[in-house]
Amino acid sequence: MTETTNLYIDGEWVPAEDGSTFAVENPADTSETVAEYAKGSTEDAQKAIDAANEAQGDWEAMPAPDRGAILRETGAVLEERKEELTEQLSREEGKTLSEAGGEVQRAIDIFYYYASKAADNAGKRKGPSGGRTSVYTKREALGVAGLVTPWNYPIAIPAWKIAPALATGNAIVLKPASAAPGPAGAIVQALEDAGLPDGVINFVPGSGSDVGAELTSNDGIDAVSFTGSSEVGHHVYDAATDNMARAQAEMGGKNPAIITDSADVEEAVEIVGAGAFGVTGQACTACSRAIVHTDVYDEFVEGIVEYAESIDIGPGVEDPGMGPHVTQSELESTLEYVDVAANEGATHETGGERLEGDEYDDGYYVTPAVFSDVERDMRIFQEEVFGPVLAVTEVEDFDDAIETANDSEYGLSSSVVTDDLNEAHEFVERTEAGVAKVNEKTTGLELHVPFGGVKDSSTNTYREQGDAGLDFFTEIKTVYLNT
Ligand code: NAD
Repeated sequence: MTETTNLYIDGEWVPAEDGSTFAVENPADTSETVAEYAKGSTEDAQKAIDAANEAQGDWEAMPAPDRGAILRETGAVLEERKEELTEQLSREEGKTLSEAGGEVQRAIDIFYYYASKAADNAGKRKGPSGGRTSVYTKREALGVAGLVTPWNYPIAIPAWKIAPALATGNAIVLKPASAAPGPAGAIVQALEDAGLPDGVINFVPGSGSDVGAELTSNDGIDAVSFTGSSEVGHHVYDAATDNMARAQAEMGGKNPAIITDSADVEEAVEIVGAGAFGVTGQACTACSRAIVHTDVYDEFVEGIVEYAESIDIGPGVEDPGMGPHVTQSELESTLEYVDVAANEGATHETGGERLEGDEYDDGYYVTPAVFSDVERDMRIFQEEVFGPVLAVTEVEDFDDAIETANDSEYGLSSSVVTDDLNEAHEFVERTEAGVAKVNEKTTGLELHVPFGGVKDSSTNTYREQGDAGLDFFTEIKTVYLNT
């Protein structure tokens, strides 16, 4: 029997009011139920919002270093549980143990980072004027934050929203994605064990269209931080801002890597391959377009096909090169794009086949795919696949490469592989993306610098992570003190 993880409302783990639950299966072995969760409703969400509003004032009034101490202790609790959390994440979401371990470590580091930042974003003192004693700004918590998160980084993304929200004195209602809610629940458990007061964080798994929608439109919510698809994100952003809540939505990507004629092609293959096929291509920053100078095109295509074919695939817990897709619908979506690309006339170089049968326990496995001769008007060039599928496009020169890379509704992460410093600088100036990387893969982020996109990848209001995370969750008050 699988034990049910309950909702967490006002410091208590409680079943859903209507008793509903849902199960999460292991994407590497679909006969196995990994976990069962209480499925919250809008009524449960309302209770959680009420509890958060009740708790928020005292939490904000707590001295910032004391809030920081609870975040630090949370990091320590997660660190003690790192091994079991890594396995849980791999079994729910499908990542390899190496990838899952890196993600859990990132969540731990995020708690330590914001623990040290809790007292750091208090405001600024300005020179007094007009005979006043002082003029200064003060940063205050927004109130109650509704956090809505995706399944693809099920511990790191909740962590990078929860930690800055708490550090700055906000209370939280968190709705994780239903495909992998466990790791976010583990953060909530760690916060409880670290002594977070009741009601300051509330955890309500449930469907997007009821719990998610409630968190983005309820009057008791002052800030909404969403990460997920562009389709849902725009809707969430509009609903939240109509409701006068501060909102941010970080969304999809169609991230390019430009390979110039000065590039070391072997290095380019490593950079593109890791960005395209790491975490089974299920990253918002995954490299899904390689835009390659004609002089190195054939060599690059040959190299990336070899790279894709060398990846061993299997259950995440066995730590292979690549794990399964998270769910059947994600797998089917990837397979559909493989058909679309072939029908559009792109050259199918390799991969895109489902691996099934006993050996694969009916898991959601697909081999990494490469398409070449991809044109800018093809869907495989324009649309986010969210699976291990790389589109390769040939370009005549550097100018053509930049224009081709920018020919996208998205603008999250972008990369150039070049040996030419002028090209590197020009790329940084001209790329339409929130993150520009030179000789690095499009995936992989540092926690102390802002992260976010432009165009359809983000609502372009606030960044996440680093100091930007603290800015989002606080309001500036300007004080004129004449004593
Ligand atoms: P999704 O948009 O389907 O769901 C995200 C969250 O929103 C889930 O918790 C879901 O239940 C909830 N939701 C769904 N409908 C809702 C509604 N009407 N109101 C409120 N909430 C609702 O995305 P997903 O499939 O979980 O994640 C994959 C997507 O996330 C990809 O597009 C990926 O690029 C994107 N992503 C972006 C970033 C980033 O930082 N830019 C990071 C990771 C993932």
